[in-house]
Amino acid sequence: MLLQIHEPGETPEPHALERSQAIGIDLGTTNSVVAMVSGSHPEVLRDSHGEGLVPSVVAYLGEEPVVGKAALAELPRHPDRVIASVKRLMGRGLGDVKRLAGALPYEVAENDKGGMVRLRVGDRVVSPVEISADILKALKTRAEEKLGHRVEKAVITVPAYFDDAARNATKDAARLAGLEVLRLVNEPTAAALAYGLDSAAEGIYAVYDLGGGTFDISLLKLQKGVFQVLATGGDSALGGDDFDHALAEWAMKRTGIAGLTSGEAKILLQAARAAKERLTMAPGAELKATIAGHEIRQSIDRGTFEVLIEPLIGRTLRACRQVLEDARLTAADVKGVVLVGGSTRVPLVRAFVADFFKQQPLADIDPDEVVAVGAALQAHALTRGSDTLLLDVIPLSLGIETMGGIVEKVIERNTPIPVTKAQDFTTYQDGQTGMLIHAVQGERETVDACRSLGRFELTGIPSMVAGAARIRVTFAVDADGLLTVSAEERTTGVKAEIAVKPSYGLSDEEMATMLRDSLTHAREDMERRLLLESRVEAERVLLALAAALKADGGLLGPAERSEVDRAASGLRQAVAGEDRARIHAGMEALDRATHGFAQKRMDLAIQAALKGQRLDEVEAGMATDGAP
Ligand code: ADP
Ligand code: MG
Repeated sequence: MLLQIHEPGETPEPHALERSQAIGIDLGTTNSVVAMVSGSHPEVLRDSHGEGLVPSVVAYLGEEPVVGKAALAELPRHPDRVIASVKRLMGRGLGDVKRLAGALPYEVAENDKGGMVRLRVGDRVVSPVEISADILKALKTRAEEKLGHRVEKAVITVPAYFDDAARNATKDAARLAGLEVLRLVNEPTAAALAYGLDSAAEGIYAVYDLGGGTFDISLLKLQKGVFQVLATGGDSALGGDDFDHALAEWAMKRTGIAGLTSGEAKILLQAARAAKERLTMAPGAELKATIAGHEIRQSIDRGTFEVLIEPLIGRTLRACRQVLEDARLTAADVKGVVLVGGSTRVPLVRAFVADFFKQQPLADIDPDEVVAVGAALQAHALTRGSDTLLLDVIPLSLGIETMGGIVEKVIERNTPIPVTKAQDFTTYQDGQTGMLIHAVQGERETVDACRSLGRFELTGIPSMVAGAARIRVTFAVDADGLLTVSAEERTTGVKAEIAVKPSYGLSDEEMATMLRDSLTHAREDMERRLLLESRVEAERVLLALAAALKADGGLLGPAERSEVDRAASGLRQAVAGEDRARIHAGMEALDRATHGFAQKRMDLAIQAALKGQRLDEVEAGMATDGAP
């Protein structure tokens, strides 16, 4: 809960205790994925075939855009009306795009609107933001159909290298899709979160992301639960698509076919991709495609495929070496490696990465879903309050137990952190040399209705009469949400402290319940608090009476003594009960019964004073003695 996770340049969103659910979205170049936390488990939202990946492809054929697999299927037939890889254009100006133009399958529309790129698709003109919005809408719809209610909030991931323009374009696309962006999270950071690395050992982690058309290598530095992107590198034109190309070229050479139309080339590439993906699981596969009436069938074994792609993997490793150099680190400094991107499924990629970093990379979570899983965890944390919640205020009041099980709040709920507050307490009994400090969390007035955070004892308080010691208890919550409670006896400087993580392990449901209870029980809590306070006061009076009787009991005659005893036992009975009025009546009765006794003690004190002591000393003695 009190771990802070944010990236440089990102302003933490103020967290609200909102109950609405938010989704996590990996808006990828090739594929997009939507996930969310249900219960406490992140879950990828799949279609009826169990498929979590939504191809980031939009077809503009009829009125409504078609997104995903259905759009991909239209690609060979309508190469000019189907847009893929639009992510590459996010935030790019017309100039950038013209430079890329040769590599792009789309026609860039000239426009007058302040440099914003637009694409001509059939008879319409759409911007990359609008196309991305169509993908996001499809993901939002998938989530809403799955959940049966509206979804309006999301955490969306972006490449670590995305600049402001590209990030803003992503936010605009979300807004257009009707999604409020809780936060944009860097893709490598999301992957690291998915593996729970935020609670792993501090140090350097590498995220190796080989997707469809891009390769990204990022070095993250984890410190106090916060990931910082140290360096990024890679190749924006290197990915699984290049594996497909290598395989397609190999097949063309073997069969001697050439001069394919753009539609035919796309069919061949799709066949190559299918064969490549089969080779991940099987030692051999067949590349099958029908092009211009000719059937192509080529068997390929994994070894042959590996020879084709080895130079491409070599390029990714050169980029890894470069990014380590940029950060003035070596592979040996890297604590863990996370694999991201569908292409890291290829066994040879895994083997090369393991060899380069001299360790087995983390790959238990599907590499093409891991970023969305991390985004979902972050979305959950931002809306529901979990252990990784970015926190800038204290969610529940922090306080200390005082006599009678009453909670004295030291830091109120919703106080911004970091914060330090102190409160003074004193001893309750004469000669008390230790004090138990019990820190609690919650809104209720009594300890048993709050959550215990930790206890410690302040020992070595010099022996003084009750109420003379000055014990300052300080609650300090740092920017990471770590609470330190310290206690110091001010006259002697004796100190003790503990450090606790206030909301660690507190689920969002528990937190909500605690807040709700504090409101519904406010009145009864107040009553209870007043009762407990009356009890404490009555017990203090009884203790003082016992001390006075021990010292000067001889001043009382038997009748007076039994009257005092009767009143005292009446009060003791009232204290054991639940009736505050009765305790009050008991206190008043005891006060009346001890009136004469108090008078006699006063006379005794005055006599002593007349024997040479100064009156103020005697009075001070009387007062601190606490006699009735
Ligand atoms: P992006 O991050 O670019 O959106 P992904 O992470 O979804 O892309 O990766 C897509 C790439 O992963 C494609 O080139 C696809 O062919 C490849 N891929 C997916 N599954 C496999 C597999 N089983 N074996 C090899 N490559 C795969
Ligand atoms: Mg990706």
